[in-house]
Amino acid sequence: MPYDFDLYVIGAGSGGVRAARFSAGFGAKVAVAESRYLGGTCVNVGCVPKKLLVYGAHFAEDFGQSQGFGWTPGEAKFDWATLIANKDREINRLNGIYRDLLVNSGVTLHEGHAKIVDPHTVEINGERYTAKNILIATGGWPQIPEIPGHEHAISSNQAFFLNKLPKRVLVVGGGYIAVEFAGIFHGLGSETTLLYRGDLFLRGFDGSVRKQLQEELTKRGMNLQFNSDIERIDKQADGSLTATLKDGRQLEADCIFYATGRRPMLDNLGLENTGVTLDRKGFVEVDEMYQTAEPSILALGDVIGRVQLTPVALAEGMAVARRLFKPEQYRPVDYKMIPTAVFSLPNIGTVGLTEEEAREAGHEVVIFESNFRPMKFSLTECQERTLMKLVVDAKTDKILGCHMVGPEAGEIVQGLAIALKSGATKRHFDETIAVHPTSAEEFVTMRTPVAG
Ligand code: FAD
Ligand code: NDP
Repeated sequence: MPYDFDLYVIGAGSGGVRAARFSAGFGAKVAVAESRYLGGTCVNVGCVPKKLLVYGAHFAEDFGQSQGFGWTPGEAKFDWATLIANKDREINRLNGIYRDLLVNSGVTLHEGHAKIVDPHTVEINGERYTAKNILIATGGWPQIPEIPGHEHAISSNQAFFLNKLPKRVLVVGGGYIAVEFAGIFHGLGSETTLLYRGDLFLRGFDGSVRKQLQEELTKRGMNLQFNSDIERIDKQADGSLTATLKDGRQLEADCIFYATGRRPMLDNLGLENTGVTLDRKGFVEVDEMYQTAEPSILALGDVIGRVQLTPVALAEGMAVARRLFKPEQYRPVDYKMIPTAVFSLPNIGTVGLTEEEAREAGHEVVIFESNFRPMKFSLTECQERTLMKLVVDAKTDKILGCHMVGPEAGEIVQGLAIALKSGATKRHFDETIAVHPTSAEEFVTMRTPVAG
């Protein structure tokens, strides 16, 4: 073989590991380089630890609600160090599983920072390896605007390893990470302010969903500051932080957490030694087969900036492996109807078009909405409400989108996504027998449109 490897993957995250393992399974000689942590962002500083912290934060409500069912819980005390230590232990276990997965599938693992030195050569730990193809799967990195004092702020990377739970937290941003972490801190007992530059957070989500979450977070006592932007951050002598806003207001906090998006991780990757091009936002440009402008180099996952979700990176990894080594089984990734959840408290689950997107795309739509207090809360003081919404095409009766805010929204929407992907109509939903008593049954019992 003229090359050391058929495929050299840079980055052992969601997409890289999937591409490496399946390529090796198809008979290719594969190496993967990892500079930080096996499993990448999702396993180490993303989906997994985040979800564990969300579970932790939810107990505060569970204890309170249990009293309505006759329980007298003792005085609940929370210990951040225990949660973080247990979370770290679980992540270590997962790192080991990723190592075994790679090694057992015959992939050569190189631990260190990889740099591309020419279109077929990678340098790592002082050694050079040649490969017929190189796959860039280096993911993303938190991006904090460089305002004066930004060095006093943290990102999600540090939030998972704080020594103690901050008393007062200021979360900046209005996307997935901001609302999820605001829920975590608030649930665990921090005095939490969520500060967003626009009118209403979660831009791009359905308008009803965004309003519902705003109402629910306000009910819970979270301080929401919209149309607000920080101009500078100053550290005080006692270690606390003062955020001065553009409108002159000042907010005090012990921790300022920025969740203002992620940039592609291309640091010292050696792209200047290749013909790889970047798009307007700095993400690696690829064609529909994940090939960059340099024919021997491919890229996938967060670094191409399409849909920054683990299951999407996994699907892209699978597509790359098949495209290179099992072309007869190649199927393009379908980017339509990608279900997603925001693990805010309460959760959001969504699949398909928002009402706004459907109208913009020219659909004549019928809207069904149900807004109710779930049965579980009927014996409690909890006033939390659940929202379910269907966006239906008036002409074809097809369900264009399903949206939910409420407990287990992600779990519920996963099943609905299969229905939507199969082209379900409102009639199919109406003819589906409900599972009773559940919240999910509302999705098949909504009969009267709220808007057309
Ligand atoms: P990554 O998983 O980031 O992997 C890239 C790997 O490349 C890293 O391990 C990195 O160390 C390595 N690397 C980088 N440069 C080099 C180099 N030069 N040499 C060697 N190695 C290198 N998605 C969901 O679907 N659900 C969620 O609930 C969810 N929650 C999230 C929560 C947070 C806080 C964050 C930050 C993200 C979350 N995501 C979630 C997004 C998800 O984590 C990413 O979409 C996914 O990890 C992308 O996979 P990837 O393979 O593209 O990159
Ligand atoms: P997002 O892109 O989702 O959100 C970024 C937020 O920061 C937006 O509200 C944006 O505002 C705001 N923002 C951007 N730049 C600035 C700035 N300079 N000053 C003030 N505010 C700013 O990014 P996240 O960091 O939350 O998450 C990154 C990605 O990771 C997500 O998009 C998602 O794909 C993935 N993820 C998925 C999760 C899941 O599946 N549950 C959980 C966490 C992350 P505006 O809207 O006005 O542009």
